[in-house]
Amino acid sequence: MYSKESADPRVRQLAHIKQMQELARSRYPSPTSPEPSQGDIAAWCDATPQDAMATDGCHVDLDGVCSHGYPSWLIMYGLVADPNQELDSGSKQ
Ligand SMILES: [Zn+2]
Repeated sequence: MYSKESADPRVRQLAHIKQMQELARSRYPSPTSPEPSQGDIAAWCDATPQDAMATDGCHVDLDGVCSHGYPSWLIMYGLVADPNQELDSGSKQ
């Protein structure tokens, strides 16, 4: 029998990332700048202070959204928690 929830934590993590990507795509406008390379993303994660690029080319925090409403690529890729997602699901207290 096929089970949607895999027992493998890596598979669950991938499913979670995919879900976050879909949420980010539905929540934010389409990217206006080209996708970063893996090297770009690694450099952003290593940068001090944290510095990433939003999907319109602005500089933002790794989990930041620029003043135009575009999220960092790490949010778009589901690699960091989307700050707005926590606001949406803030009903559980
Ligand atoms: Zn911007």
